[in-house]
Amino acid sequence: MTVKELDAACVAHTYSRFPVEIVRGKGSLVYDETGKEYIDLGTGIAANVFGVSDGEWVEAVTRQLRQVQHTSNLYYHRPGAELAGLLCEKTGMKKVFFCNSGAEANECAIKTARRWAFRKYGDESHSTIVTLKNSFHGRTITTLAATGQDGFHTEFGPFTPGFVYAEAEKPEQLEQLVRENGCCAVMMELIQGESGVTVLSREYVDAVIRIAEANDLLVIVDEVQTGNGRTGKLYAWMHYGFTPDVATTAKGLGGGLPIGACLLGEKVQDVLTPGSHGSTFGANPACCAGALSVIRRLDEELLTGVEQRGAFVRGQLEGAPGVKSVSGMGLMIGVETVRPAAEVAAACIDRGVLVLTAKSKVRLLPALNIPTQLLEKAVDVLKEELAK
Ligand SMILES: *Cc1c(COP(=O)(O)O)cnc(C)c1O
Repeated sequence: MTVKELDAACVAHTYSRFPVEIVRGKGSLVYDETGKEYIDLGTGIAANVFGVSDGEWVEAVTRQLRQVQHTSNLYYHRPGAELAGLLCEKTGMKKVFFCNSGAEANECAIKTARRWAFRKYGDESHSTIVTLKNSFHGRTITTLAATGQDGFHTEFGPFTPGFVYAEAEKPEQLEQLVRENGCCAVMMELIQGESGVTVLSREYVDAVIRIAEANDLLVIVDEVQTGNGRTGKLYAWMHYGFTPDVATTAKGLGGGLPIGACLLGEKVQDVLTPGSHGSTFGANPACCAGALSVIRRLDEELLTGVEQRGAFVRGQLEGAPGVKSVSGMGLMIGVETVRPAAEVAAACIDRGVLVLTAKSKVRLLPALNIPTQLLEKAVDVLKEELAK
């Protein structure tokens, strides 16, 4: 059987895959089973921040693999402690809980907010969390409940109660929901990724923070996709001039290995206590070693490079034939297309450029260090397909 046949026969049909089998790669180039080359503008959905098999990252991970690949959280280990230290140092957050994915990082944020409120009020009267419509927070029952899209709220019920949804850019709606429900937190993506790379305005985020302060709510930001240099800052909240109470991240953090983190600010740093939360593989040493090498490299020079590459792509696409609009920040870019986005993506892939879609947009999430020459070549192909 071919890989495609075996997959069709035995892998649960939860994904509609592009017709490409990826065998290997280097940096921003990947190759299929026939040896065909692709320029990768998707990076495993913003996971491979330095592309495929980046030398420094491979070295960091394999060095750790040769020492010890897993310990459980019953023991101490250096990569986990150092990664937490570096994240706190670079963000001003106070504690870090490690897990394996974005959904799990959000579960941790939700548990933290609920317990913070329970301990404050002595009951569940302030357990509700306001999230935004068109958000995406994960695939577990609770993070689906947190996801403000009706399409995710069917057939798998009953869902976790305690979530209400506010329309983005309408602070009065959020305020009303807070008035009508006993709330402990507001949770948002600063750029809604999965629903179409929609950037929240500075005015709206400022208003959300004002409402949170006035009503004693925690501000939770979901940086699973926007985090780890993707937008040209280490975390997207750094564009908005505030520090959240809780931030979650995953995707790019591990540079291509599964690791998530929930960053806890001053107010909530001691909410989680021994036995109240955990994860067998959380803070896996090999994943932490990879993440440590990623976060260490995300310095000012690299982040400036992300902004420059992003500005180049936006400059090329804005106003180009077949483009209705371009959204995003840094190297998280959404393109509203005249031609159906899925058709553009399929045509690009056929021509050796891997792009993604998000709802009705083409979505680009290239490696943060993609060589300019490859980026130019890929954007030329994309522009030709957009114009058809
Ligand atoms: C991808 C994503 C998630 C879910 O992350 P997983 O690692 O797939 O569980 C959650 N929130 C946002 C904003 C995401 O983009």
